Amino acid sequence: MIRMVDLKTQYENMKAEIDQAVLEVIASTEYINGSAVKKFQAELEAYQGINHVIPCANGTDALQIAMMALGLQAGDEVIVPAFTYVATAEVIALLGLTPVMVDVDPETFNISVELAEAAITSKTKAIVPVHLFGQSADMEPLLDLAQRHNLYVIEDNAQATGGDYQFSNGTRKKTGSMGHVGCTSFFPSKNLGCYGDGGALTTYDDDLAARLRMVANHGQNKQYHHAIVGVNSRLDSIQAAILSIKLKRLDQYNNARRQAADFYDKAFAGMPQLKTPFRQNNVSHVFHQYTLVLQEGDRDAFRQYLQAKEIPSMIYYPIPLYKQEAFQKFWSGAEMPVTEHLCRSVISLPMHSELDPATLEVIVDGVKSFFQS
Ligand SMILES: *Cc1c(COP(=O)(O)O)cnc(C)c1O
Repeated sequence: MIRMVDLKTQYENMKAEIDQAVLEVIASTEYINGSAVKKFQAELEAYQGINHVIPCANGTDALQIAMMALGLQAGDEVIVPAFTYVATAEVIALLGLTPVMVDVDPETFNISVELAEAAITSKTKAIVPVHLFGQSADMEPLLDLAQRHNLYVIEDNAQATGGDYQFSNGTRKKTGSMGHVGCTSFFPSKNLGCYGDGGALTTYDDDLAARLRMVANHGQNKQYHHAIVGVNSRLDSIQAAILSIKLKRLDQYNNARRQAADFYDKAFAGMPQLKTPFRQNNVSHVFHQYTLVLQEGDRDAFRQYLQAKEIPSMIYYPIPLYKQEAFQKFWSGAEMPVTEHLCRSVISLPMHSELDPATLEVIVDGVKSFFQS
């Protein structure tokens, strides 16, 4: 059976190690803030090449904690791409801030730097680039823009853990390590996923790290002393133990994803009906999704055709953020052409770290035969 994501095979390939680690946490009774959490935190700091990792309960919480710790206030505007998962804009609205949505680049699907600049007002306080589908947003011009306008940069790195970006001076940095704060998710299907919910924040800044920790821990600065109103957001020890095991394999997993993407790219090259993912040359894409743009033909018919061949596909994302009922009030009424086009024409194929050539062949043959029939 072909799956969009195959967590079962991945688990079976490391079952003994995972089972032992989980049982050790259970026997230790250190379920919350145990040594497994501290160990994973240090390992992720080393992997990311960053001073501070603050684990939390999920990626959505990470975004919320970042905005609270940066002291954003009701009425402040935060710029986000219109083509993304809802979590990014949701926490902005939840905190009484104003999400300002902007269109994306037609090639990378990431936030357009020019349109982000055009959306800046005197109320703008932060910008949230999303490294969509595993490809870093164009951070060099974005960081430059943010610096010129004195804005915070909060990276939504939920889909790109392990990816990186090369600056024009040759420096390479991991996604999540470039802005003031990075936010990631360990939702099971993410590139680095646990067996439940999990998330983390990353920052270079010592003061901000202390504040992020405080917000995530009931605003507490000393036991039973609460300096600010915070939240309760923790990564549990069992998830941390699993993440330590999977972090060791993250580069291998991301390489396997890239190889599957190469296979698809090659198979679909020269097909005018399909536009394969653009790869920015200074970015290492980690293919959280492999997303095609359908240039001609009916997308629903295409999906049904694939489904009949037991080839799953998904639409990420079918509706622009500004057209979601919950976000209508933040919309000027002007449609964003790239986002509209993508919502109508993207389709994501199975993508995970255990795709073998035989399976890829079946998927590719199924896709091609639709256009030959
Ligand atoms: C998954 C995801 C999130 C939220 O992560 P959770 O752990 O599910 O809360 C946020 N932003 C993007 C772009 C995501 O893909």
